[in-house]
Amino acid sequence: MAHSHDIPTDLTRNQELVLGTLTASAGPLSAYDILDKLRGDGLRAPLQVYRALDKLVDRGLAHRLESLNAFVACADMHCHRKGLIAFAICESCGKVDEFADEVIEERLGTWARTGGFKVERTTMEIRGRCADCLAKAA
Ligand SMILES: [Zn+2]
Ligand SMILES: [Zn+2]
Repeated sequence: MAHSHDIPTDLTRNQELVLGTLTASAGPLSAYDILDKLRGDGLRAPLQVYRALDKLVDRGLAHRLESLNAFVACADMHCHRKGLIAFAICESCGKVDEFADEVIEERLGTWARTGGFKVERTTMEIRGRCADCLAKAA
C-alpha cells in the first residue's frame, strides 16, 4: 500500500479513467460502481468498462476479486507480475490489503512440480476482520 504507483503512459483514455477510479477508491469496486463514477466522463456502456478492466487485469495493474466480483487497483504493480497474489478482505469495512508471500508461493510451487500441475495464476482471498475493525469492536 505504501508503494508509489507508476501509471504507464500507454493506456487508453478509458483504461486511465478506470485505473484512476480504482486507485482513488478505498475499497473494491464492481464494474457497475466504476461505470457510475465515470458517467460524467463520457463512459456509458458497461462494455467500455469491462474492456478497460480486462486490459488492466491482464497487465497486472488491477486485480479481480472473485469472491466479491469486484476489482481493486494493484497495490504494487512491480512486485508480482506473476506468482501468488493474496488479498485480505475485511468483511466489516470492506478494506482490501494486497500482499505477496514467498513461503506460500514456494510451497505451492513444490506441490505443483510434484503433481505435474502447471500453475497459470494463484489468487488467495482471505475473508475476515481487519485490525482496525477488531480494535473498534474491542
Ligand atoms: Zn497486485
Ligand atoms: Zn475492517
